[in-house]
Amino acid sequence: MNFSLKGIPKAELHVHLEGFIGPRFLYGLIKKHKIISQVNSLADARRLYDYPGFDGFLKAFTFAVDCMRSPEDYKTLAEYAVTSLIKQNVEYAELIFSPCIPVLRQKLDYFKALDAVLEGCETGGRQKTGDRKQGVEINIIIDLVRNIGPDLAMKMLDLAIKSKNRRVVAITIGGDERRFPARLFVKHFRKAGDAGLKLTAHAGEDAGPQSIWDALLKLKVDRIGHGIAAVKDRRLMEYLRDKRIPLEVCPTSNIRTGLVKTVEKHPVRRLFDAGLTVTVNSDDPEFFRTNINKEYRLLAENLDFTGPELRRIAENAVKAAFSPKKLLKK
Ligand SMILES: [Zn+2]
Repeated sequence: MNFSLKGIPKAELHVHLEGFIGPRFLYGLIKKHKIISQVNSLADARRLYDYPGFDGFLKAFTFAVDCMRSPEDYKTLAEYAVTSLIKQNVEYAELIFSPCIPVLRQKLDYFKALDAVLEGCETGGRQKTGDRKQGVEINIIIDLVRNIGPDLAMKMLDLAIKSKNRRVVAITIGGDERRFPARLFVKHFRKAGDAGLKLTAHAGEDAGPQSIWDALLKLKVDRIGHGIAAVKDRRLMEYLRDKRIPLEVCPTSNIRTGLVKTVEKHPVRRLFDAGLTVTVNSDDPEFFRTNINKEYRLLAENLDFTGPELRRIAENAVKAAFSPKKLLKK
């Protein structure tokens, strides 16, 4: 299904740039930069994508991010990401960019990497658009990454604030919610908000409802990344509904990381039926072997979402977008 909704542009709000690193690209990076690791063949690289559970996924993802060593790597990856998004007929996307490890550990120049991402988005968009006037508008969300801890995250935030004129519209924190809870990042979110950046946080993905409460009340986020643990707390569901806080739900991601056992058990149906502002997203397309169209199809085929319900979800994404110049023109 190439999901087309008459009159409604398709927007994707939760998709990681580094989530487009597939085994072949990863193995290419390892050879190019002569990275010494456990991955010594394409077969080894492929095995990395059969990670056990959520922690295994975080380790595999972090390893892949750590192999991004030069601005050219980011340009190539962004070209591929944008080409993939255009294939799905996505018209607006907020790409989550997590350069913390290469910047802090490998001394990669943040601004050069970001410019390379934007350049890759431009060329990727141009290649596929041709005369067809098809393209995708991209904005960037900087992931401060919970696991690097509050001090290094503050360094990343300062860089994010300085790059506001380079399509950086928001921050998020992804990673381990249990070991690195929201309270460690209160200062960061206050400072980002004061600087005019929008705020979202991965919360209620691997941890329980309290993590979502903390993101809402301590970090004052505009949206919640995942948020599936909200189904365990009726008062939280009511709060999210009444305040119309959008949830960036990523069904396949939760199943592939083992946080939800089967598609049929995914809480997205209950969240939607309770009147919450649900959006669906692909999270990390190569790691989860998915894309936005597959996510919509999963809702239709496995969770009985009707055409009008899918339309509502697509409209929610457009309304919840942080800075959708192109979408607003429609
Ligand atoms: Zn994510």
